[in-house]
Order: sequence, then structure tokens, then C-alpha cells
Amino acid sequence: MTIAPKILVADDDPVLSRTLSWILQENGYEVTALAGGERLFEHLVTDQYDLLLLDIMMPKVDGLQLLQRVRTDPRWKDLPVLMVSSMPPEEATVRSLGLGANDFIPKPFRVRELLARVKAHLRVGRELNQARAEARSRTEMVEILQEVTSTLKPDEIYQILVRRVATALRIPRCSILLAQPEDERATVVAAYENPTLHDLTVDLARYPEIRHALTSGAVLLVQDVASDPLYDEVRTDWQSRGHSVPTRSALAIPFTLREQQAGVFFLRTTTDELPLGQQDVAFAEQVIRAAVASLERAYELETAVLGQEQMRHLAETDPLTGCYNRRALMERLEQEMDRAARYATMLTGMMIDIDNFKQINDTHGHLVGDRVLKQLAQLLRREQRSVDIVARYGGEEFVALLPETTSGESRGFAERILKRVADYDFGDGGAAVRVTISIGVASYPDERVSDGQSLLKLADGHLYRAKSEGRNRFRD
Ligand code: GH3
Ligand code: MG
Ligand code: MG
Repeated sequence: MTIAPKILVADDDPVLSRTLSWILQENGYEVTALAGGERLFEHLVTDQYDLLLLDIMMPKVDGLQLLQRVRTDPRWKDLPVLMVSSMPPEEATVRSLGLGANDFIPKPFRVRELLARVKAHLRVGRELNQARAEARSRTEMVEILQEVTSTLKPDEIYQILVRRVATALRIPRCSILLAQPEDERATVVAAYENPTLHDLTVDLARYPEIRHALTSGAVLLVQDVASDPLYDEVRTDWQSRGHSVPTRSALAIPFTLREQQAGVFFLRTTTDELPLGQQDVAFAEQVIRAAVASLERAYELETAVLGQEQMRHLAETDPLTGCYNRRALMERLEQEMDRAARYATMLTGMMIDIDNFKQINDTHGHLVGDRVLKQLAQLLRREQRSVDIVARYGGEEFVALLPETTSGESRGFAERILKRVADYDFGDGGAAVRVTISIGVASYPDERVSDGQSLLKLADGHLYRAKSEGRNRFRD
């Protein structure tokens, strides 16, 4: 499990603040929204944030003054701050960047751009941990890919969308209809008010607002269905049939998916509820645009050519080194323990840890550190027999599993890789980069080992001894 970056939003406009929070949450961030800037420092002190989105013009406090205070306090010196404002861009940009803001986002903002900038600044803010964060986000991506491809079908996504939009806007009647602009009929693919409804065909002659939104491609808001001329014809029809229609206002928001599949989000309020207004239109549009973006991603994933085999490989592999990752290791470890017990053979586990790796990063930078990790993984794999398993256990720790290996044979293996690593130049052709490793070895059977966990624990204890007795050595 990875931790979502935390974003603090301070904006006095409730609609904007709601929209921002929703969009950011949808994109995997954890959001705290403040209705203004008065309590900003209270929150900064009590909680750790990865990024601050700050409005410039707020009624009680000046966003620029807050920015200045944030910047002069060493605790938040490195906190990325993005200023959001409808002030004329030039003036606001110059002032906020002058005061140390990391970026300036003019209102109204474009969602895609906002997300791109948030992402960019989160990355910069975490530069120190960049290599690890990247490795993590790649694994996370694989996890998300798997979850989405295995659980979400477009139908389920439509259901989620109507539920999200209906609850976000507090409008109980929200549905999605699919149709092309010239179609006579549309298919209702999801309706919040009726979750069991599925692929119902409706005659668009009875829904002038939907037809209008489809043909014009523009949002259509009807504040009063009872008087709007768009409904003249339908109203006559309702009257002649003696229908009383409870709809008060209607909102039809067209969208396109992958430039071909077109549809409409259809929201209605009844005569008992408040009519929909321009504010709802703006909010609904933002919400729907973000939602459609996730739907497009889901379609892409559904049609993606990633085979099962390829997915499995991705899920088992550490992206940086190409070794097995920890999860895959733990699975293989249990299998190998079972096998060793069943056939009464030996199994050796080695915990391999780079010596003073922090210093390598500090001296040469994380990119060189990453290259060392990659090359070490290659060295280890080159030494392994085809039955051995090499995995990245954690940051700069690797585990090798050697089935059917006696302790004498595993000592040979340990000595060989110690020497290989110590002799190897991890540099890039320029100045030499030297690295050593320490190894803890444990073998089964052993009275202290009952399962995979205890085998690794014993190896880890031996690794600790190898470290404290001078490094660049193995202990068993
Ligand atoms: P010791 O000899 O006692 O093992 O010292 P050490 O510095 O190797 O050990 P420590 O556990 O204190 O530090 C490990 C370092 O490994 C800290 C971390 O920055 C670095 N590291 C972990 N994962 C990665 C990675 O993926 N890339 C890079 N470049 N560095 C990493
Ligand atoms: Mg180390
Ligand atoms: Mg370590």
C-alpha cells in the first residue's frame, strides 16, 4: 500500500473548493479543504502536507500574505505552494512568484492543466525521494491497472458515474444516455434513481433537451420545464394524454468518448426541489469532465493488448532492477520451503545488502544509486543458476534463494559474489564507483527455521553480524 499525497486547499469559494477537492480526490490525492485562509497555519502545524493550493483573494485574509508567512517559516520552506486566482494573470503571477510561490494557476482553471501542474510540483517537492517515489508509482500503476481491468467494465463505470455525480450534486435523478447526434432513439445505460435499469431504449422525440444537447454539442439548462418554449410540443402531448410531469428543471450535458461514442448526462429536479442553476452547471461540467477522463482510461485499458501473461510478469517484477519483487519472492519462498520439506532437501536463503549505500547516493546522486542497484541485480542474476531466485526485497536489499544447496555450496556462492561486486566498477566510464555488499546466509533444515519468514529472519540476523563485524563479508 502506498500513501496518497496530501493536498491542502484554501479557497473561500465553496463551489470551486468542492470541485477542486473532488477532482483531486478522484485522481488519488488526499484533500483537506479550508473555506478561507484563517485556519491555514493551524492545519499546517498539526498535519503534514505535500502541497498547498492557495487562493489569492479571500475576504478575511490575503493569500499573498499567507504565502509570505509560509515561505519565511523553515518548517514549510520546501512545501510546494500553487496560487490560484482570478486576478489578472500578469500581475498575480509576478507577485506570487516573487513571494516564492511555485506556480500560479489562473481561474477558471483547466482540469488537465491543474492536475499536470499539481503532479509536477509534487514531484519536485519530493526530489530527495525521487528514485523511490518513482519505483513506487510504477508498482502502484501496475496495481491500479490490475484492479481496473479486473473489476471495472464500462457498465459498472456508468453506474459509478451516475452515483458519483448524483451524490456530489445532491440531485437524485441522474442518468446517462448514449446516442449519436442524429439518432431518433437513445439508450439509457445507467440511472441513479433506478440502479436495476439496463439498456432501456427511449424515443428522443419525448426528450427535446437531450436531442438539443446532442445536436448542438452544448450544455443545455432548462430552469423551468413548465414554461420553456423548448417543451411546447411535448407539453401539448403530455396534456392530451393527461400526464402530469413532476420535472421542474433539467440539465443535459453532452460528452464524447474516444471521439466516437456520444452521450448525455441527464439531470433533473422535481417540483419539490430547488431548480438547477448556473452554479450547478459549472460544477456538473467539471465533475463530468473528470469522470469522462477516467472512463476513457478504462476503455483504453479494456482494449489494451496487455495479455494475462504480460500482466502477471509486470506484477511480479521490480520495475527498476527487473528482479522478482517482494510479493513474488514471498510466494516462491513458501513454495520452495514446502518442496524442501516434502523432498527432504536443503534450501538456502541469502539476504544481500549494499554497504553504506546512503553514502553512494549522497556522493554521486540518486541516479547513480539507481544504476548501482540495476547493475548489482545483473551481477547477481549472472551468478545464479537457472533454478535460483533473485529478488529485490526492499530499497537496497536483495534476497537470493538457492534450492537444493548445501551450506558448503552456498558459502562458495557468497564468496564469489562478494568478490565480483568488490571488483566491479559501477561507474559510467568516468570516475570509478566502488561498492561492497554484506550477506547473511541461512539454510533449512535448521531448528530455528519453520517457514519462509523464519528463514529470512535468521538470514537477516546473520546479515546484521556481517555488518557489525566490518561489512564486505558474509556470515552464516
Ligand atoms: P549499511 O551499510 O548499514 O547497510 O548502510 P546503508 O547506508 O546502506 O543503509 P541504510 O539502510 O541506512 O540506507 C539505505 C539507503 O538506500 C537509503 C536510501 O536512500 C537508499 N535507497 C533505498 N532504495 C533506493 C532506490 O531505489 N534508489 C536509490 N538511489 N537509493 C535507494
Ligand atoms: Mg545498506
Ligand atoms: Mg538496508
